[in-house]
Formats: sequence, structure tokens, C-alpha cells
Amino acid sequence: MSNSPHDRRFRLNSASDIAVSFEFFPPKNERMEEQLWSSIKRLEPLSPSFVSVTYGAGGSTRERTHATVSRIVKETSLKPAAHLTCVDASKEEVDEVIRAYWDAGVRHIVALRGDPAAGVGSQYSPHENGYQSTADLVASIKRIGDFEVSVSAYPERHPESRSWDVEIDVLKAKVDAGATRAITQFFFDNSDYFRYVERVQAAGINIPIIPGIVPVHSFKGIAGFARRTGASVPSWLARRFEGLDDDLRTRELVAAAVAAEQVLDLFDQGVDAFHFYTMNKADLVYAICHMLGLRHQEQPVKSTVAA
Ligand code: FAD
Repeated sequence: MSNSPHDRRFRLNSASDIAVSFEFFPPKNERMEEQLWSSIKRLEPLSPSFVSVTYGAGGSTRERTHATVSRIVKETSLKPAAHLTCVDASKEEVDEVIRAYWDAGVRHIVALRGDPAAGVGSQYSPHENGYQSTADLVASIKRIGDFEVSVSAYPERHPESRSWDVEIDVLKAKVDAGATRAITQFFFDNSDYFRYVERVQAAGINIPIIPGIVPVHSFKGIAGFARRTGASVPSWLARRFEGLDDDLRTRELVAAAVAAEQVLDLFDQGVDAFHFYTMNKADLVYAICHMLGLRHQEQPVKSTVAA
């Protein structure tokens, strides 16, 4: 019998051992709202473990994030996770948001520090009456309610990181405060992810480190985002998208191939949970999940009429 690294992939008959989650951002207008909800409805039958909704820089989408997760609770069978940052907010303000999520039926928060108002890379200083660190925020969330708490992780280190030791200490503090899952910043070189997981495990941290996968809808957009977040963009990736700026159809096919290649390679090496940065677009993510063996499952119909 062959011992090809692809054996795991070819034995993939059922998706029961694979967990996927999808990340969305809150819409700014009616057109974006329609796009978001059509994507949620398309991805819902894949039965993700959870879907998360981001929190705009400095809490700028506070109401829209709340409205989106509340609608997910009311109208779908999905389990929403609300992102929450503590930058530029007092403890009272943040605690109010946490309690509002609990009252809306949300039981999972992705707890983050957030970027300084002056932008990524500028000096971070906590609000004078605010949480000093993400670990403090995690502890407070756990005090307020029995939430599941996920946090961030950076396989290529956070742009502000001083050293790997500090990087791992920061993750450990978040786990000690109650986080039970970390979702990574996106990356394109899977060896960065595996090296990072080794470091985390060597430090005695045993929570799942879920790889964050970003389909490259726009190479220029992703390259700009990567520059700000400290993720590297390999030259082979740039080469794949070269000359396709005005060729949307080919770009989408290449993006699907690139993401599928990355996800299947992670899967071949034992990874069985994936978090997709959907950018509120469903088709590419749906196709990749299909390749992972996930299939449409009928969902229980939820009444939208208030009781
Ligand atoms: P932390 O994990 O607390 O810290 C980040 C890094 O800063 C550490 O890894 C370390 O290098 C350094 N650091 C922290 N504390 C110390 C210390 N005491 N001493 C020395 N170094 C330290 N942003 C949003 O605004 N809204 C979102 O919805 C959002 N969602 C995200 C989801 C994911 C999965 C990820 C990976 C990021 C997300 N971000 C979001 C971005 C995030 O807010 C920024 O990357 C921010 O700069 C750091 O927040 P954090 O929670 O990752 O910080």
C-alpha cells in the first residue's frame, strides 16, 4: 500500500471529522447587507462550527456587529461568535457590549486588543480606564458570562512583536485567562503555521490553533493588507496573479486553486479545522469546503416571527 502524503485526502469520504468556521464583516449599506445575507445563506448548509462577525477598528461597527450577530441568532441555525476589541474603550463600555451579547443569546466571543486609532504599527496604549491587555479582556468576559472565548494568533509574529518569547507569553496569558481556541492571522506558507504550532506546544499551550485562510479575491488588496499586518506574501503567489488584474474570471479560478492547494496540504499534514476569512463572499469558500468533503445539509427552519 502506498504511503503517499495524499492518502489522508483520498480517504476523505465524510466531512464528519472536519470543522470549518466562517468570518464575515458587518455591512455598511443595504447592498452590502444583501451580499452578506446571501453568503450566510449559501454557507449555512455546510454546518460550520461557528460563524464570526468582526468589530470595526476602535469599535466603529459596535451597533452593526451587534445587529448582525443578533440576526444570525434569530434567523439561522448557526452559532455566531462576536469579535470584540478593548482599544479606546473604558471597561464599563466594553462590559456593556459583553452583557448585550449575552442578552442577545450570543455565547462565543473572539476577544481582541484591537489596533491603535493611529493605525497598525503605531504605539499602542490602553485606554486609561480600560482593559490593559487582551488577557484582561478575556478574564472579564469569562466573569460576565459562561462564554466560549477565542483569541488571535500570529504564525509570523504580530508586527509589534519584540520576540518569539513575548509572542508566546502573550498567547499563554490569554489561554490562562480562559481562551479555548486561537484563530491565526492569514498566512500563505504552511511551514510558518507548523513551526508556530510547534512553538506553542513546546510552551505547554494545548488549545487548538485554527489556521485562518484567506481566499485571494484581489491580489493587490491582500498584498496591501499583508503589509499592514505583518503577513508575508511569497513571490510565487505574486507570480500566480501576475497579469490578472483585469481578468476577474481567471483570477477567481486561480484564487480557488491557490486556497484549495493550501487547505488540502494542511489537511494532508493532519489539520482538520479551518477558519475562512470570507470577505462576505461565499462561492470560493463553498468550493474549497466541497473539496474538503463538506456537503449541503438541510438545516432546521427557524421562525423569524417574534414569540
Ligand atoms: P494581542 O494578542 O493581545 O497582542 C498582539 C501582539 O502584540 C502580541 O502577539 C505581541 O507581539 C504584542 N504584545 C501584546 N501585549 C504585549 C505586552 N504586554 N508586551 C509586549 N508585547 C505585547 N481587529 C479589529 O479591530 N477587529 C476585529 O474584529 C479583528 N479580528 C481579528 C481576528 C483575528 C483572527 C486576528 C488574527 C486579528 C483580528 N483583528 C481585529 C486584528 C487585531 O485587533 C490586531 O492585530 C491588533 O493589533 C492586536 O490585537 P490582538 O488581540 O491580536 O492582540
